Amino acid sequence: MVPKSKIDEILDGYDTSDITIATLCSHSSLQIFHGARKMGFKTLGLTISHSTKYYDAFPLAKPDEIFRYKDFDDFEERIGELQDRNTIIIPHGSFVEYMGPRRFAELPIPSYGNRAVLGWESDRDRQRQWITSSGVPMPKLITDAREINEPVMVKYHGAKGGRGYFIAMDYPDFKMAIDQSQPYTIQEYCLGTRYYLHFFYDPYKTDGYRCEQGGSLELMSIDRRDESNIDEMYKLGSIEESRRHGLYPSFVVTGNTSVVIRESLLPKAFEMAEAIVNKSYELFGGMWGPFCLETVVSDKLDFKVFEISTRIVAGTNPFISGSPYADLIYPGLSTGARLAMEIRDSIQQGHLKDIMS
Ligand code: ATP
Repeated sequence: MVPKSKIDEILDGYDTSDITIATLCSHSSLQIFHGARKMGFKTLGLTISHSTKYYDAFPLAKPDEIFRYKDFDDFEERIGELQDRNTIIIPHGSFVEYMGPRRFAELPIPSYGNRAVLGWESDRDRQRQWITSSGVPMPKLITDAREINEPVMVKYHGAKGGRGYFIAMDYPDFKMAIDQSQPYTIQEYCLGTRYYLHFFYDPYKTDGYRCEQGGSLELMSIDRRDESNIDEMYKLGSIEESRRHGLYPSFVVTGNTSVVIRESLLPKAFEMAEAIVNKSYELFGGMWGPFCLETVVSDKLDFKVFEISTRIVAGTNPFISGSPYADLIYPGLSTGARLAMEIRDSIQQGHLKDIMS
């Protein structure tokens, strides 16, 4: 990972009255640019091959400048151009996924958040260790495929938006579908309703929902993902029936919808998020800023967290002008704008370096 001293040195050379916020043109970039502009920052879109014409349709979210690269090698070679513009990078899921967590970790450019979290997020075993050692329940792990005797979810490593995941009912099912050339994990299939809880942890805030090691936790919004084709599969009848026609369920995210959870679930949601934040400080120096707990709630009203995303998620996109939760903290504020607000306030209060890595 790029040494923190190197990032601090780069920040020492920055004119903090003229910061540019940059991100990769995809995922939640509209929201990030819109939020950054709202807080008075210049904005810069970075793109390898992604079309950027769609920004013309959304003038309030169009970046001031766009840099085009041949590939990520070209991007790395031209990193000086970003430093010249006092650039701070906002990582999002696609940025890290497309570039690769290892490569992203080495980028010599200030990035919002703690990059040490990448090693804990991208490795499923470490992620499980982090979540379960926080006391937060996860779907049960099945270590021997021959022991599958209930519906399970088979997941290949690395975030792929659910691409390639499959459900197996028993061992023969598993054997038929598994690609042994890729590392995978098998976990209990949790039947229930999916909620993706978007939190923001501010280590400097002294009011609101306080956390053990100081700071404050905010619930900005909640979404549910639309996943193709599993969400529509029921229209064809049973899964068994569909399989006979060669149709298998898949979990490819195609969109997001806004939801609220029953109010009595909120205390548990905050307790889980707080425990995970507290543990992050113990394990790797902390996770601050936006993160998402991806959960299933059973009919017994129990949560299980099947994954954690440690940066802004695309599920926050329905909330560009606020949410039923954000409106009770900062009316009309998106997570993208909350991020920019954190950077703006840190500059004003003189601790910008502390939220960058
Ligand atoms: P991303 O990084 O975009 O979150 P991913 O590739 O890591 O995606 P997951 O989020 O782990 O994938 O899972 C994809 C989808 O599969 C979930 O949104 C959910 O619908 C379903 N899913 C995952 N784990 C379980 C589980 N244990 N039980 C039931 N459904 C699950």
